[in-house]
Amino acid sequence: MTVIQEAELYRKVADACRLETAEAFHLQSRIHRLRWFGRSDIWVKRDDELGFGVSGTKLRKHASIIPSLKEKGIEEVVVIGGANSNNVLSAAQTLRENNIKMTPFLLGPPSQKLGNVKLLSLFVDDSEIHWISRSQWANCENFVNTYIEERSAQGIKIFVLPEGAHHRLALPGSLSILVDILRNERESGVRFDHIFIDAGTGMVAQSLLAGAAAIERKTVFHVVVLAGSFEDFQAGLSQVVEYTGDFLGVSLCPLPDYHLYYPATAKSFGSTNKTIFNEIRRIAREDGILTDPVYSSKLFLTARQTIPGQALDGNILLIHSGGGLALTGFMDSHMFGV
Ligand SMILES: *Cc1c(COP(=O)(O)O)cnc(C)c1O
Repeated sequence: MTVIQEAELYRKVADACRLETAEAFHLQSRIHRLRWFGRSDIWVKRDDELGFGVSGTKLRKHASIIPSLKEKGIEEVVVIGGANSNNVLSAAQTLRENNIKMTPFLLGPPSQKLGNVKLLSLFVDDSEIHWISRSQWANCENFVNTYIEERSAQGIKIFVLPEGAHHRLALPGSLSILVDILRNERESGVRFDHIFIDAGTGMVAQSLLAGAAAIERKTVFHVVVLAGSFEDFQAGLSQVVEYTGDFLGVSLCPLPDYHLYYPATAKSFGSTNKTIFNEIRRIAREDGILTDPVYSSKLFLTARQTIPGQALDGNILLIHSGGGLALTGFMDSHMFGV
């Protein structure tokens, strides 16, 4: 069990994300107070402000993935995901910018093209997408393997980005959120006792837990698991603990306290209902913040129930992980009607 210093953590993350270069992704986001429950100690971290097309957690992950792909001379990346995946839409931008060909293997096609998948069509032609039906989705890995064997045989340097970019190369970028929270704390003079974060693949939440262990930071983490099960989250966590130990060159201290939650409503991934849309409207009108129906609104809703439900006191931070573009697919939904 070894502890590393915050400065050392910063240096390693900065190196991996090439933060000192002109083309680096901008990985600093601000915090501000929410006026919930008449309190002044509940804050939100605005990772949604990190970017427009590529926002929040995806920008952090790609910040370390892209420099490694460039260093390895990768020419083509197979990106796996749902048709409306934020990671796929983000990769379409970060890969193209860097002249790396993206080959999407996507679950679909969807019956209606709205929101992210419609935006994706600006970047890639439908004919370039390998659509995989739901009944074949379990074989996706085989299809991808066949494809990469073909391309590798042609001498093309190819890489596979798994769903949601849950990958070792995304670790340094994912750890940047911890580095940035420490900066927010120094600048505000506030030390957070509780941190709420959402999880899809869990890469960023798991990195936050592993990074907190590495610097022996004691904060209670509240993770809202939006895709998969608690068991899936735990399995991903073990992987990320291993990646973190390797990256930082230490064996990790015990993990900080953390609690897992399923969302308070619309539990299956990507599902929405009237409660979610009412919450999106409430957050917009009362907090002045845009949230998406898949991730952030479910995090906010779960936090709004958990804070009074568990009588959490002390300083609380919610991480707004971004993803607002997904809202474009829902604006005509009848559930938004009044
Ligand atoms: C992908 C995503 C997440 C989840 O990130 P993971 O690292 O996969 O858990 C959360 N919020 C938004 C907006 C996302 O796009």
